Amino acid sequence: RARKALGQNFLTDRSVLSRIAALVSAGTGERVLEIGPGKGALTSYLAEQAGRLVAVELDDRLVPLLRGSFADNPRVTIIEGDILDLDIRETLARYGTPPWKVAANLPYNISTPVLFRLLDVRDLFTRLVLMLQKEVGDRLAAGPGGKEYGVLSVLFQLHFDVTRELLVRPGSFHPVPKVDSVVLSFVPLAQPRVDVGDEDYFRRVVKASFAMRRKTLWNCLKGGALGVPTDGIRDALARCGIDEGRRGETLSLQEFALLTKGLLAAGGTLP
Ligand code: SAM
Repeated sequence: RARKALGQNFLTDRSVLSRIAALVSAGTGERVLEIGPGKGALTSYLAEQAGRLVAVELDDRLVPLLRGSFADNPRVTIIEGDILDLDIRETLARYGTPPWKVAANLPYNISTPVLFRLLDVRDLFTRLVLMLQKEVGDRLAAGPGGKEYGVLSVLFQLHFDVTRELLVRPGSFHPVPKVDSVVLSFVPLAQPRVDVGDEDYFRRVVKASFAMRRKTLWNCLKGGALGVPTDGIRDALARCGIDEGRRGETLSLQEFALLTKGLLAAGGTLP
């Protein structure tokens, strides 16, 4: 029986599985990290290609099954553990040098924290192919102006080319989930897309700008604990040529970078 708390919806649709494997397209000798292999459906496809496959599974009932299935493939290692507790950099270093690719049909209840863990160690990877709840996937790939555009869009697009690859309907899984899913690929950029001055401060500015979606930028930022007096915020907005009456969701990545640097120049600091 699937464990609901572990977000277990197993992919059963062969055409989706082979398309995901094709997107990963791990050539001979390439190294792949799989998160949440489950019963090994995607793992089997990946294991045919990869030079080294490390799969991390939390469910202690599935781990012995997985180890059994891949016992005769020395290129596959199954690690029992929680991807949120694991030191990804240190763990992968035991199995091969970077670069790695990542493949995952993520448990949707932990997809956001997993995404942030992967963002932190993006230098290890050349490509990530992730299945996500459609709503989260849409946010990651969204551009300014729409309701999907938000903190995730800005923070991930700063460091990755994000591409929405395919929509996957609930019927492709067992048990059948309640929501649509989407497969995205992420290619880390060699340099951040724009210079943001100080990334921690940039994150704070972005989060504050989206904190109250119906309010103006000015209303969001004045209480955003950015370390700048309210007049300084107003001045910084004016100097960046950003109308204080706009809403956060209309700002491009470039404008968020400009605003961050403007606020830093006005003495902005994190508390
Ligand atoms: N990859 C399989 C497939 O496509 O059929 C399973 C996908 S299922 C959506 C998510 C898998 O992640 C489950 O096998 C679940 O047990 C595992 N999982 C859940 N939380 C986890 C965690 N914190 N760390 C590692 N694996 C986890």
